[in-house]
Amino acid sequence: GTQKLTFDELIRHWASEKPDQVAIEQDGDALTFAQLEERSRRIVAMLRAHGLSKGDRIAWLGKNARHYFELFYSAARMGVVMVPIGWRLAAPEIAFILGDTGARLLFIDEGFDELAAKACGQMDDPPEIVDTSTAKAEIAAAPADDFEGAGPDDAVLQLYTSGTTGNPKGAVLTNANLFSLRLPAEEAAQPWSKWDENEAILVCMPCAHIGGTGLGIMAIAAGIRAIVQSEFTPDGVLDGFEQGITRLFIVPAALQMVIQHPRAKDTDFSAVKYVMYGAAPIPLDLLREAVQTIPGAGFLQCYGMTETTGTIAMLPPDDHTLEGNQRMKSAGKAVPGAELRVVGDDGAELPRGEVGELICKSPSNMQGYWNLPDATSGALKDGWMYTGDAAYMDEDGYVYIQDRIKDMIISGGENVYPAQVESAIYGHPAVGEVAVIGVPDDTWGEAVKACVVAKPGSEVDPEDIIAFTRERLAGFKVPKTIDVIPEMPRNASGKILRRELRAPYWEGRDRQVN
Ligand code: ATP
Ligand code: MG
Repeated sequence: GTQKLTFDELIRHWASEKPDQVAIEQDGDALTFAQLEERSRRIVAMLRAHGLSKGDRIAWLGKNARHYFELFYSAARMGVVMVPIGWRLAAPEIAFILGDTGARLLFIDEGFDELAAKACGQMDDPPEIVDTSTAKAEIAAAPADDFEGAGPDDAVLQLYTSGTTGNPKGAVLTNANLFSLRLPAEEAAQPWSKWDENEAILVCMPCAHIGGTGLGIMAIAAGIRAIVQSEFTPDGVLDGFEQGITRLFIVPAALQMVIQHPRAKDTDFSAVKYVMYGAAPIPLDLLREAVQTIPGAGFLQCYGMTETTGTIAMLPPDDHTLEGNQRMKSAGKAVPGAELRVVGDDGAELPRGEVGELICKSPSNMQGYWNLPDATSGALKDGWMYTGDAAYMDEDGYVYIQDRIKDMIISGGENVYPAQVESAIYGHPAVGEVAVIGVPDDTWGEAVKACVVAKPGSEVDPEDIIAFTRERLAGFKVPKTIDVIPEMPRNASGKILRRELRAPYWEGRDRQVN
């Protein structure tokens, strides 16, 4: 077929098919596919001059930048593996990732010298630090030589999981992992897999996560312009909409900030074709509000993980109707090319409607976790990725994510999924953010506790929240206690860190996880 499975093929292809099409743009500074092709040959030469070859690793520490994307694409063309590091991490966390990967070069963006030096200062065998101006000068001086491109099964990207449930793990992804689920527009059956020439994809989530870097990959696969914003701000996204962004990916916490921004009601959303959202559960009320705020857009819920190179299930726009729609609680069905199952503890598929672990077979499943053979064999069995998420599937193949198996609360023998309780509490007008956790309880094993951040200008009355929840959920799901907290602990991908909220209550005890 016409499907291209490597960066090298794709960049050569677009440079010859549409040389003047913009590939990457930041703050109006644009690079066409022809320029990207030429520049990336210089970058390859620069990396080779540093002694790098296929299978070696380089790292990036910085915000989202055009420079990062061209570096990643170029390294990928020759099979050098890019490791983007979250810029919100602390020096010891950065040192851990650098040491774990054995990256030879650390490219840093402006403003990251101190953090990089601090992290490298804690390492026995630190990488060479290359700042942006040095890299630019070296790239300009390098020859635009030809080279042999890496193949579909060569690793090109090592992304660390978000570290929501424990230490981040490095998922090793190949060219084929990145591109095999992305059919060329003429072969794709779904309307959202087809592209207009003048579309623009917004990259506003951090590039250290699949929701950031993955959008750049989507743009390269489609031959479409990627607009890079250095970091997420609600204003930046609203500006982007008015400047003709047609698609974006955004996590629920960020979507909330965008649609509840005072500017949102005066924003012209007419250019927006698709709003992709996901990476964490979304409260139903928030989703309804988003659909009403951006009525012309098709909403696509994305479910996936770093280990599956992002989206493996999608809830299509048609399932986002506002009236009495149960489907809107679903994370959608398997994307073409991926297969989903819900299995019990013995690994056997469960009847539809029963909750078990969601597993996925997909050409986008990672090669494995870097340096973690046990974790890899625990997660990848016979080509199936075990997601660690509890879910059920309906008769039509739609999956309903309940929560992470590790976060499930067992209270008096009943399973309570925090996400469901959170979704109910979120409907209370005084609640800005909420997280539900299990705390030790002598009678029930675990008791349900909700940690609530008040909406600005509101006050939270714990008794009122409990009464509100009791009207909406079965008794065993209703929180026994409420903590009102000033701020929600979240990681760089905007995910709530329930383990941090749980920690003080479990000090000195062992929490049994399934
Ligand atoms: P770690 O694996 O290090 O604990 P993490 O699982 O948060 O961190 P990611 O790979 O970024 O790291 O996230 C994948 C997880 O995000 C999924 O396993 C699932 O729990 C959650 N998730 C992703 N998409 C959705 C969605 N649409 N709805 C609900 N949860 C989602
Ligand atoms: Mg995970």
